[in-house]
Amino acid sequence: MSYVFGPVPSRRLGLSLGVDLIPPKTCTYDCLYCQVGRTTSRTIKAAPFVPAREVIAEIEKKIAKSKPDAVTLAGSGEPTLYSEFDQIINGVKEITETRVVLLTNGSLFWREEIRRRALNADVIMPTLTSAFENTFRKIHRPHPKLDLGMIVNGLKTLRQEYKGQLFLEVVLVAGINDSEEEVEGLKVLAGRISPDKIQLNTVVRPPADSTAIPLDRRRLEDIRIFFGDKAEIVAGDPVTGKGKNKDSLAGGLLDMIRRRPLKPVDISNTLALSMEEVEDLVRGLLIKGYIRKQEYSGEIYYISNQRSAVS
Ligand code: SF4
Repeated sequence: MSYVFGPVPSRRLGLSLGVDLIPPKTCTYDCLYCQVGRTTSRTIKAAPFVPAREVIAEIEKKIAKSKPDAVTLAGSGEPTLYSEFDQIINGVKEITETRVVLLTNGSLFWREEIRRRALNADVIMPTLTSAFENTFRKIHRPHPKLDLGMIVNGLKTLRQEYKGQLFLEVVLVAGINDSEEEVEGLKVLAGRISPDKIQLNTVVRPPADSTAIPLDRRRLEDIRIFFGDKAEIVAGDPVTGKGKNKDSLAGGLLDMIRRRPLKPVDISNTLALSMEEVEDLVRGLLIKGYIRKQEYSGEIYYISNQRSAVS
């Protein structure tokens, strides 16, 4: 079984080696904008889903072949639901100086043991979408035992205890959390959590629910200015990678697309292929029915027909 995918180009992390620690699709949320479809197991119970030693051995092999900018704990859902994710962080730090990133929805930091497990990550990237309970519930369709107050308190406590970098991702969905009131509430809340950066994102890949609509660039820009110096827009920029995965291009590409939809330019950057070569490669996979093409927000994405994948 393979626990590691990529490296894949990431808008925020450069070339990111993904680590998939969670059975598809297990999450504390069932977000409208999720790029990997509806949650099938909505839970807040952490479990040792995969053998930590095998995961670390696989990461070590992959790092030797490709030099990623980051090793990213993502998973087919929420990675903090893996009860041994601290062992993965610590194990990776023993074998490489590559920064270890925890990409999380941030919903479980109210638990002391989850905060403790995350402390050695170099970067933690939690998500926040609203200062209002109703909006939070509408966007994330969370597990019934979760509420916004406990999650925000968890993030504030994490900030006090955690010495690494905290990048707060604010995902904006048109018509749901982009009103003046919502944006003002988010700014106040983000100020209380006090992250190192505020990363503004929107629905950039085909979402689980078609009611999730992206914000246009101008509105995102207005919101960035309103949020101030710490804010940056991470939605929509072409991603760049170094392209090292030369063996089994089709297999490697399928592996990546299974985790998240990719644009032709992402594939080109990651695999160091010309756009013509990308077209040739995906044509074979399209004909065999492994992937399909979908237009979203004026861009073409390739999507797996064998869903599995990430946060
Ligand atoms: S976007 Fe992330 S947090 Fe939301 S349902 Fe998908 S995997 Fe879970």
